Amino acid sequence: MRTGTEQPAPDQPAQGESRPDSGWAVVGIDNGGNTNNATVLDSTGRFLVDGLLEMPSRVLEGPAVAVESMAAALDNVLAVTGISRSSVRAVGLDTPGPASATGVISSRGSTNFSDPAWFSFDIRGALQQRTGLPVVYSNDANAAALYAHHLHFGPVAAQRSSVSAIVGTGLGGGIVEAGTIISGAAGMAGELGHVHIPMQGLLEEGQPIPQCNCGFAGDAESIASLSGIANNLLPYWLSRYPGHPLASEDIRTAAKLVRGYGERGDELALRIFEQQAMAIGRLFTVAANFTDPNTYFLGGGVVETTPDFRDWFLGRVRTHTQLRAEQLTLATFALVPDRDMAGARGSAIAALGSLQTSEGTAPAATDAAAPAS
Ligand SMILES: [Zn+2]
Repeated sequence: MRTGTEQPAPDQPAQGESRPDSGWAVVGIDNGGNTNNATVLDSTGRFLVDGLLEMPSRVLEGPAVAVESMAAALDNVLAVTGISRSSVRAVGLDTPGPASATGVISSRGSTNFSDPAWFSFDIRGALQQRTGLPVVYSNDANAAALYAHHLHFGPVAAQRSSVSAIVGTGLGGGIVEAGTIISGAAGMAGELGHVHIPMQGLLEEGQPIPQCNCGFAGDAESIASLSGIANNLLPYWLSRYPGHPLASEDIRTAAKLVRGYGERGDELALRIFEQQAMAIGRLFTVAANFTDPNTYFLGGGVVETTPDFRDWFLGRVRTHTQLRAEQLTLATFALVPDRDMAGARGSAIAALGSLQTSEGTAPAATDAAAPAS
């Protein structure tokens, strides 16, 4: 089993340096609760923005204001990179879910899309109508998975497959096959958090079956997410460590503090993270028998921690992923990089891929995800 980048990304000019005239480009917009982050990917596969280029998203003010804010983010990134609007062939957009494969927000809304005007709102169609440009939609976890895949594999991305698990409030996922995200008929492929996993040997004697916000019991997110800590793991483990300092905190606050305790080697916290690592490992074991990917990516807050703790956690996930001998020689484990940029960059890669697919060529950028450094 190997770790690390299979094909090093080629060097490229930094922002503002001379670059070959690329002719056309795509834009990526990552729509978050507070900001839109935007990037430009040119036709040679180079990102023209080094880091974050953020503008207020104003999603809490409802769709009309938010669509104008996305259009402003588009104009801003074109101005910063000196790309003319007429040379933009497509815009990639990602948002948090739940939303359909084509970017229709859930009829029940969500955290960012709580204004009732968002319910069943076609955010992709609205941005397309506002800008007059084709807009390609991805959910945020899929965009991050696509970026991780292309950055990791570089020129051979179109010949590789991967599965990503991104631990946050929930457990996001993404399945990439031959360089392309699998989205499914209803847009729900890669919802890895809601895959049931075996609980035998994971739960302690007498530990209740964890419940997920989606209504399932014993799925991956019911354990491997911040919600899983707050709703399931921490209440149980506090009953086993009644004198623990976290017992005096509100459970939502305490759940967020568990990682810090884990970094300091706290026993209760390590028991929780061991159960999370086992859940993700069992999820990856399902993936191993389902799409048999080249690489398993782990991302989210759980890996944005001290290097020691992150390495310990990834090592535990790997230990709990049961691969067959044939797979062990091929499979790699890696982290989802540059979390803040992953959404915008992944969205841009999805937009580029959609153009290549519609042109009948392989849906893969050659070095689409090379970091602009
Ligand atoms: Zn679930």
